[in-house]
Amino acid sequence: MPMMETEFLQAEVTDRKLRLQAAVAHAPHDENLKSLLREVDSALDRIAAGTFGLCEECHDPIEKDRLLSNPLIRYCIDHLNKAERDALQRDLDLATQLQNKLLPPANLCSCGWHTSYHYAPLGAVSGDYCDLIEHNGSLYFFLGDVSGKGIAASLLMTQIHALFRNLLTMGIPLSQVVSHVNRSICEKVLTGNYVTIACGQANANGDVEIYNAGHLPVIVTNRDNVQLLESTGIPLGLFQEANPPAAKLQLESGDTLFLYTDGLSEARNHEDEYGVDRLTELMDKHRRLPPTELVSVCLNDLARFTGTTPRSDDLTLLALQRMGTA
Ligand SMILES: [Zn+2]
Repeated sequence: MPMMETEFLQAEVTDRKLRLQAAVAHAPHDENLKSLLREVDSALDRIAAGTFGLCEECHDPIEKDRLLSNPLIRYCIDHLNKAERDALQRDLDLATQLQNKLLPPANLCSCGWHTSYHYAPLGAVSGDYCDLIEHNGSLYFFLGDVSGKGIAASLLMTQIHALFRNLLTMGIPLSQVVSHVNRSICEKVLTGNYVTIACGQANANGDVEIYNAGHLPVIVTNRDNVQLLESTGIPLGLFQEANPPAAKLQLESGDTLFLYTDGLSEARNHEDEYGVDRLTELMDKHRRLPPTELVSVCLNDLARFTGTTPRSDDLTLLALQRMGTA
C-alpha cells in the first residue's frame, strides 16, 4: 500500500481509537466497545510492524477498496469465512441494485434525438458513468470512466452522477458544470482518482456542443463519412484550472454520435487490442443504422474479436442519433 494511503489510514484508525476510548470511558462495561478497541490497537500494531494490509492467511495484499472502507479487516476476500463472505455478497448485490437505478431510461427518445446504450460492469459495480438528462429542451449526454476499479471507483462515479444532475437542473450552463465538477473532484477525492469524460448538449435543431476531457475520441458519422472528435483536455480531477474547451457541431437527421469506454477500445484477444481504428471502420460501414442496432452491431463485433478471451474492464457504449425532420 502506498505511503500516502497508509498515512491516511493510520490517521483514520488513530482517530477511531480516540473516539472509542472516549466511549469506553462513559460505558466501561460495554464488551462490544472494548473488543473494537482491541481490534483498533491490533491494526495500529500492524501499521507499526509494517504488516498492515496483508492477509493473515496468505500474506497477499488485501483488496485496497475494502481496506479503505474498513481498515480493521485482516483477511483477503479469498480467506473470509462463510458468514463474512455472505455479508459481503449481500452488500455487493445491494450496490449493484443501487447503481442500476442511476442508469437513464433505455432507448430514450427526447429533444429530437434517439439514444441507446449498453452498460456492463465487469464485477458487481462499475466505475463507468453513463447518463442522459433532458433539461430545458436540450438532451445532455455523459459518458465517463473513473480511474481505478471496483467499489472505490463506483463510489466516485455515483458522486459525479449526482453532481452533474444537480448542477445542470439548477440551470447552470454545461461548460460551468464541467469546471465545477472538475474542481469538486480535485478538492474532495482521496487517493488521486480522476475521471475521463465525454459529455455534451444536443439540441433538436442539430446543434451539439461537446466536451472531451481526456476521454477516447467520440465518433461522429454523417451521410458521407466518419469523423473522430479527439480529447481537447485532460481528465477531470487533476488540475483545478484545467477545463476542456467546447467543440461545436451541426448534425443532420440520421447523423450519429458514438461514445464508449476503454472496455471496448482496449478489449483484447491475447496480444491484439480491439482499437479505435476497428471501431471507426465498423461505424463507417453501419453509419445509417439506428442507435439500438448500432449498439448491437458493435457488441457482436466485439464478441467476434475477443473470442474466448475473458473481459478485463467495465464496458459502456452510448449512441445518439438525430431524428428525421418531418
Ligand atoms: Zn488471503
